[in-house]
Amino acid sequence: MKDNRTDTRRTRTKLVHGGTKRSQWGELSEAMFLTQGFAYDSAAAAEARFLQAGEDEYIYARYGNPTVRMFEERIALLEGSEDGFATASGMAAVNGALVAMLRAGDHVVAARALFGSCLYILEEILPRYGVEVTLVDGTDLDAWEAALRPDTKAVFFESMSNPTLEVIDIEAVSARAHAVGATVIVDNVFSTPVYSRALDQGADVVIYSATKHIDGQGRTLGGVILGTREFIRKTVEPYMKHTGGSMSPFTAWVLLKGLETIDLRVRAQTETAAALARRLAGHPALAQVIYPGLTDHAQHEVAMRQLGAGGTMLSIDLAGGKDAAFRVLDALEVILISNNLGDAKSIATHPATTTHQRIPPETRAVLGIGEGLIRISVGLEDVEDLAEDLLGALSGL
Ligand SMILES: *Cc1c(COP(=O)(O)O)cnc(C)c1O
Repeated sequence: MKDNRTDTRRTRTKLVHGGTKRSQWGELSEAMFLTQGFAYDSAAAAEARFLQAGEDEYIYARYGNPTVRMFEERIALLEGSEDGFATASGMAAVNGALVAMLRAGDHVVAARALFGSCLYILEEILPRYGVEVTLVDGTDLDAWEAALRPDTKAVFFESMSNPTLEVIDIEAVSARAHAVGATVIVDNVFSTPVYSRALDQGADVVIYSATKHIDGQGRTLGGVILGTREFIRKTVEPYMKHTGGSMSPFTAWVLLKGLETIDLRVRAQTETAAALARRLAGHPALAQVIYPGLTDHAQHEVAMRQLGAGGTMLSIDLAGGKDAAFRVLDALEVILISNNLGDAKSIATHPATTTHQRIPPETRAVLGIGEGLIRISVGLEDVEDLAEDLLGALSGL
């Protein structure tokens, strides 16, 4: 059988062929191995595999499965990591990476602008098990410096924050974290694996919710932890395989197909997002258009150095507050009101009343999540239809 599993090919080739394993029938498309278990040729073979499973040998789907392994290899090729562990959701990946490596007495520094469930793990769960957590403004390098200590074991942040699209400088934060020996764990969802060079820039571990751009078509929950073979197989795998957060083979198959097109999709979505940001900038109904690709974005220079693009997400701040935001959302015809992101369908979210509803208003104010803020995940529709939809909804104010 021809072997396309080479890491010397270019990105789009890796995304179509990387990690593919074929059965004796030589199927063209990746097979979905819907099996929890694997049968052994003999009792001695079972004993040997339990003693030490080989590179492509499986025991039980919670530990690994051929379709899941194909997904892990393909996303690891895209990110340029030695290995990866696929998880049932993005949150299983965040929780798994942190809990697998931390123990009572450890200290963690994290950026304050976090996805709600990530904040719950850091503020509620980890302290319950004796891990001390310090939250900082992720864009303030002096704040990182002041919070890091000799007992800091991990640093955690979203490289582009939700929903205010602050960009955190991976290189600068990693250099400071490594000076105290901390492991840098980056939740890279908004940056997307297409633009990420996080490992080259200093991150030790990169996490994706595959639910977002990797699926990109709103079908499944999934996640992945990427890092060195040592970290993935010695630290992450034992924790994940015994605690049940592994990815299902069906999910892995959907996500393998998502990876085949992710480069095309994310680049097209980014081009549309950039065009919409330019069209909306300066609109009289808007107090602000937030897009890392615009030169007036506070971390525009960091975004360009780190990602080379502004990404697929865009936020607009309505001068008229909640009332104006709701009127615009209700007037949209193409863009759907929902809370997912990275999807082929464009989605608008009002964070203050949905995804960030439970955050106290004072904290929302600190995070810059005002009542007029609308987050837009730009999809694959025609840019003119999206522009007409947004400008039409704004003109009704
Ligand atoms: C969605 C998301 C998660 C959680 O992913 P799920 O797949 O929904 O569990 C974590 N971090 C960020 C930044 C996200 O956007």
